[in-house]
Amino acid sequence: PQRIFPFQKGHAERPADPVESLGLKGADLSLLASLNLPVPPGFTISTYAWREAKGGREDMPVGLRSDLRDQIAALETVTGRRFDGDRRPLLLAVRASAKTAMPGLAESVLDIGLNGRTVEILAGELDDATFAFRSYRRLIESYAQLVFDADPTDFEEIADEEAEEKGWSGEPATIDDWRALVARVNAYLADELGAVVPQTPFEQLVEVVGAMFKSWRSAPAQAHRALHGIPENTGLAVMVHSMIFNERNAQSGRGRAVSRDMKTGRPLLSGEFLLGSGGRDGREDAREKIDLTVALKNGGEGFPADIEQLDDHVRAVESYLGDLAEVEFMVGDGQLFLLQSRVGRRSAGEAVRLAVEFVRDGLIDEAEALLRIDATSLDQLLHPSIRRDEHFTVIAKGMPASPGAATGEIVFTSDRAQAAASEGRKVILVRHETYPEDIHGMHVCEGVLTIRGGTTSHAAVVARGIGKPCVTGAGMLRLNAQTGELHAGRTVLKEGDAITIDGASGEVIDGPVTLVRPLLDGDFATLMEFADRARRMKVRTNAETPAEARAARDFGAEGIGLTRTEHMFFEGDRVRAMREMILASDEKGRRAALEKLLPMQRADFVELFEIMAGLPVTIRLLDPPLHEFLPQADHDIEETAQFLGIDAASVRQRVEALEEFNPMLGHRGCRLAISYPEIAEVQSRAIFEAAVEAGRKTGAAVTPEIMVPLVSLRRELDFVKARIDAVATEVMKETGTKIDYRVGTMIELPRAAVRADTIAEVADFFSFGTNDLTQTVFGISRDDAGTFLSTYVREGIIERDPFQSVDVEGVGELIQIAVEKARRTKPHIELGVCGEQGGDPASIAFFAEAGLDYVSCSPFRVPIARLAAAQAAI
Ligand code: PEP
Ligand code: MG
Repeated sequence: PQRIFPFQKGHAERPADPVESLGLKGADLSLLASLNLPVPPGFTISTYAWREAKGGREDMPVGLRSDLRDQIAALETVTGRRFDGDRRPLLLAVRASAKTAMPGLAESVLDIGLNGRTVEILAGELDDATFAFRSYRRLIESYAQLVFDADPTDFEEIADEEAEEKGWSGEPATIDDWRALVARVNAYLADELGAVVPQTPFEQLVEVVGAMFKSWRSAPAQAHRALHGIPENTGLAVMVHSMIFNERNAQSGRGRAVSRDMKTGRPLLSGEFLLGSGGRDGREDAREKIDLTVALKNGGEGFPADIEQLDDHVRAVESYLGDLAEVEFMVGDGQLFLLQSRVGRRSAGEAVRLAVEFVRDGLIDEAEALLRIDATSLDQLLHPSIRRDEHFTVIAKGMPASPGAATGEIVFTSDRAQAAASEGRKVILVRHETYPEDIHGMHVCEGVLTIRGGTTSHAAVVARGIGKPCVTGAGMLRLNAQTGELHAGRTVLKEGDAITIDGASGEVIDGPVTLVRPLLDGDFATLMEFADRARRMKVRTNAETPAEARAARDFGAEGIGLTRTEHMFFEGDRVRAMREMILASDEKGRRAALEKLLPMQRADFVELFEIMAGLPVTIRLLDPPLHEFLPQADHDIEETAQFLGIDAASVRQRVEALEEFNPMLGHRGCRLAISYPEIAEVQSRAIFEAAVEAGRKTGAAVTPEIMVPLVSLRRELDFVKARIDAVATEVMKETGTKIDYRVGTMIELPRAAVRADTIAEVADFFSFGTNDLTQTVFGISRDDAGTFLSTYVREGIIERDPFQSVDVEGVGELIQIAVEKARRTKPHIELGVCGEQGGDPASIAFFAEAGLDYVSCSPFRVPIARLAAAQAAI
């Protein structure tokens, strides 16, 4: 195999696997050379040579030495300079080039080839002795650091002493001062380290290459590889190129150019250029900065090379990459050289803009544009986010339960939240966990922080639904409701103190932070059009309120996949009527309470049907984990008692009687409808009457889909469906209107998944409830698994919280079994998913593969789901 691969403008010998053999930098420069772009001529010593040289453990093998000599000879011809020459000395820059960036690898060594003789020649040639000596000193010091492990602070001390003695400051004042300084550094190396920087340029090169090889085995590099699973034998290449004197004079400098205007996405040279040298002591901030866009507009004024040419080169790199190009370049005495190119970095918003612009420019097609966007990153465009360039202190980390960032004063109760909000103050509601009685507080606050809970607990689900940022399970915080204090380690916060939460990262931050609110501009809409053309799966939303339904439609939802009717009773009067119904001790009491609920439900449904006119709406019968509705606090119990006109003791008794050890596995879902069929009947009536009314209002027939939750036995569905059908017949008779409706079920218990074939005999559709399915398949509680799941993730036992991203191997397998069995019974049965994972891109990819017809997710995740569904179809 070839040990060394030379390159120069217009010509590069390239191995079959450039990055593997030449590392990133070497591969990149040889690519630029092969694109006929101006690069400094040079060569890359391959990873094969590194292996041959035993990674710097042994002396440079003879074969490599002689290959190096040949390459130097060739480089001398190309440059018209000579290593150790009597005039025009050849100087080299040497850079470690690994396949991925890595800490601990050797820094670049510049100006190899300078020695006591050539430095004087260079000084004469450039007519700038200071520049030559500055370079020489830099070579000696960086050589000594790399090869002899010298301590850089020693060099500073030497310079200080020398300055003191000779009476200069910053840099030596005369050439003799320079000579004296260099001599002193060399003497120090010889006396203290017993080391000498070789005077022969070739030996300098060989030693530096050997030391660079060795840097692969430095402790930080090894640690980095262990952490990222990079194999030890990947190896290091070393790139060598002729020096560009970019700090030589005012016709020199270096810069970074970008191919696009990041604000508009249009092709336009941008970036900046640092002119000349940093003056006497090379200080960066003393350099004059040139804005490339401005320079281009002014015909290159102030720019020491041909700016049109730079523009062309950057454009050429962009069209080769088919992506945003970022180019490092240098100008040496008016001559332009490219040093490095890469795909440019971008924020989420810029990524969308660029992808759309690239399609407009014909650089890529729509499919490629869609694949280039990280679907999850769209979240940042739909919600405010934290300005990351500001300084802030993170005091705790919880679960990222609902995206977006929010800043506000701490309040510890929903009542306080409401009071503060009515005075126009912005608040963050901080609770151990939230209950239905917190809804009014959640609605008026900027964001919600809970100490307990996970990503599908009450706070999380409600916050996502109403689009509020939320962090749950911040277990390292201590909330003392008595003293009104929130402890985060040594930080103590009180009501009224400002905090910031980031529901995308789970961070809790002390004090306020500036928030950025990006706009959903035209490019975002265009990208969504691309997505809609590409995807096969439909995207619906989980919505209960008109506001949610409208927001979801605006985000492109194609119907409602889940209306959790119990969520419609979280507020005010409604929660009272709901409690009355739950607490009723007999059917008569329940029917009375239901009669109050019926008109409220009917009105809600009419509104949802109207908003979603022409689109499917799936309404789920009551599935209340009872504990979420029961009054807990004393004042709540008293209020309920007063409302019901009975004494508090009986209410407390009834609450205790209904108390369950595992409410999530308790008397909920269809179990409730079977114990108390009147609940299902009244709800069905509300749905059918609403369908008739909405149909009349909009002039379009409404086809309601009624969904029965928590089914595990076919007979459960038979039982409830019979009640629904009976009510449908009644309402049709009463109204004289034919109602087209469908009855289906959630598949959210393992038994239902396994028996999907028999259940499909009575169901028109299935919707996978992956929240409960995950809970029951794993046997973990969705309410408090957060406490140990984060440890599982940290320890690598699981990759992600299975409530956030579907566990493909377990829960996923069960879904596949259910899909297959259901379709065997009913080939065209409609299959969707409405658990939280319906908005998770990785899960959506799986659902698409499993052959589901749609996913349903929170309104704010609809655009993410549209993109993810498109990516899954490409
Ligand atoms: C589910 O279990 O996945 C689901 C959508 O229902 P809920 O979250 O209301 O239990
Ligand atoms: Mg469920």
